[in-house]
Amino acid sequence: MVVYLKEAIEKFLDKKDKEIQALASVYPDKKSLLIDYQELEEYDHVLAEKLLSEPDELIATFTAILSEKDMLVSAGGMVGLEKPVLHVRFKNLPKERGYTVMVRDINSDYIGRLLSTEGVVNRISDVLPKVYKAIFYCNRCNERTPVMQDRRIFKEPYKCNHCGRNEFRFSPEESEWIDIQKIEIQEPLEMLKGGEQARRIELWVEDDFTDVVTAGDKIVINGILRLLPPKIKGSVFQKFIEANYVEGIQKEFEDIEITKQEEDEIKKLSRDPTIYDKVTNSIAPSIYGYREVKEAIALQLFGGRTGKKLPDGTSVRPDIHLLLVGDPGVAKSKMLQYVDNIAPKSIYVTGKGTTGAGLTATAEKDEFSEGAWTLKAGALVLAGGGIAAIDEFDKMNKEDRSAMHEAMEQQTISIAKAGIITKFKANTSILAAANPKFSRFDPYKTPAEQFDIPPTLISRFDLIFPIKDVIDMEQDKKIADHILKMHGTENDMQGMTPEIPADMFRKYISYSRKNIKPILTEDAMAKIKDFYVTLRASSQGGAVTATPRQLEALIRLAEASAKVRLSQKVTVDDAERAIKLTNFVLLEVAYDKKTGVFDIDRIATDHSKAARDKIKTVQDAIKELAAASEAKTASFEDIVKSLVSQGVSQSEVEKIIGELKLKGFIYEPRHGQYSFAVE
Ligand code: ADP
Ligand code: MG
Repeated sequence: MVVYLKEAIEKFLDKKDKEIQALASVYPDKKSLLIDYQELEEYDHVLAEKLLSEPDELIATFTAILSEKDMLVSAGGMVGLEKPVLHVRFKNLPKERGYTVMVRDINSDYIGRLLSTEGVVNRISDVLPKVYKAIFYCNRCNERTPVMQDRRIFKEPYKCNHCGRNEFRFSPEESEWIDIQKIEIQEPLEMLKGGEQARRIELWVEDDFTDVVTAGDKIVINGILRLLPPKIKGSVFQKFIEANYVEGIQKEFEDIEITKQEEDEIKKLSRDPTIYDKVTNSIAPSIYGYREVKEAIALQLFGGRTGKKLPDGTSVRPDIHLLLVGDPGVAKSKMLQYVDNIAPKSIYVTGKGTTGAGLTATAEKDEFSEGAWTLKAGALVLAGGGIAAIDEFDKMNKEDRSAMHEAMEQQTISIAKAGIITKFKANTSILAAANPKFSRFDPYKTPAEQFDIPPTLISRFDLIFPIKDVIDMEQDKKIADHILKMHGTENDMQGMTPEIPADMFRKYISYSRKNIKPILTEDAMAKIKDFYVTLRASSQGGAVTATPRQLEALIRLAEASAKVRLSQKVTVDDAERAIKLTNFVLLEVAYDKKTGVFDIDRIATDHSKAARDKIKTVQDAIKELAAASEAKTASFEDIVKSLVSQGVSQSEVEKIIGELKLKGFIYEPRHGQYSFAVE
């Protein structure tokens, strides 16, 4: 060490005496002296430069000078140490000159240098003990030899200083230990171009920086790039970063940089009267049709108003969840992949979880934690603040399925396993696709009957789109044309390019999500209320057709509609757009083709086919008998009589009549006499 540098550090630290004194008084609650790099650079830029290129030597000198400070003696005395060791940590590294790098750009040039990178915490290990001063005894002469362990590999003494032999035994009890934690981060999804795979790197944090981050956190870390030699002899080494400083950042879409010029362009686009068409047509242009689905996805990308709090302190989820169900081969998967490409922040996974990371979050014992517990963030956590496109939603495993309930409504994922109790944030919109159990979608059956998704989960989606593969010559011709064009000449391709280029679209969405927090106008509120009340009243006899969940979904959709044109006000037009989409979906899903009645219960009940058949038989019998009678009613006795021959017992008839009455399909004008409510 050049004397000049040592003196410079001494002088710099002298200026920090007050801070060091304050630290000493709260030791060991605080163990780190935090130095702003910018301050160091202003003080002495040669020293600052040296810190980046030779961090090991410089940090060791900082630490050594710091530990000589007398003011630490009393603090040490309190905890039975001669003198506590304070860590020196550096924040605010320069953003330029290759010191702030993306994980993918960390190459061998950086070995041994101080760098800054950022990512989302993907895996996190238990806190593990690491030896830093190992004590050895010579097997022959019992000479005591301490070896400082400043690296990840365990170092043994070369030979005994006393007798020259090289057989030692390690004494863990006399050695000195420090807590470490291994963390794996991956590149933030919003920094990747559509569909790009996020790269990962391992970090080590120690002592007071263990247990400060959790899976799903977005962090900036400053550290030194180190290498871990291969377990088997070879020349390829694993790299990891020994963290010096970890900083939490909770930015979401802000990371997408928007220039002033682009902002002007965004504002201009928002005033375009055809903005809704433009936005809708920019989603999966190579897929023919599905206007409503695309419109709903557009609204999902913008999302409802964020940061809403109810008087009781709970928050309302702004994220819109969509479910596409239907026949195989109708471009569901394709649609999901498209959204993953266009969304500013997204992840595409399949429910089967072949990717290994899982959908929600897991705690498992693995090598990463040297056999102890590792917390792993799944897709919903990693895509926080964005969209998770989940294909084959029906094929989820049991754990994910139960965690999904909490994730979709409370937007958190809790883990309680083997003494680990933790909660992740999962403010993620879900775009899910599912195939029917029996290969084809049957409009006569409820969704819950044909999809392996529990009704409780189905009811958490704001909109459910059944997509049927119907044979329609005109339509088929158009789809064929469309698909053929995609494979055709460059000239043909023009109709396939999105109206808003993908890069601009991403920026447009980010801008809106960041800046627009639209409020419902009185008129819009009245419109939504009217629709909701009518929907609830449309069933007779008090059967529930719509729940407050639908009301919340309507509000979210209307807010998203306002965000599409960057409006801070939700107008009647926005309310109408939400109502139109909801109506479209209700016609597809909640409309019972058998009875001709709207019934949102259809979304969330799963009568078996046999049960529904029996219900149908009873309904038919009542209809028939009532039609034949003068009073247009059917008596209980007659109904039972006509049904026993069809294998429905009297007690079953009673039960079904009760249910039909409750749901408002039939009513009882006189005791024991039933009439049909709907024709
Ligand atoms: P699913 O996931 O619904 O089973 P896929 O997304 O795998 O279906 O789609 C199968 C193929 O059919 C894809 O290559 C898709 O592009 C094509 N396809 C189906 N419907 C359409 C459509 N309406 N427009 C364009 N391509 C379509
Ligand atoms: Mg598919």
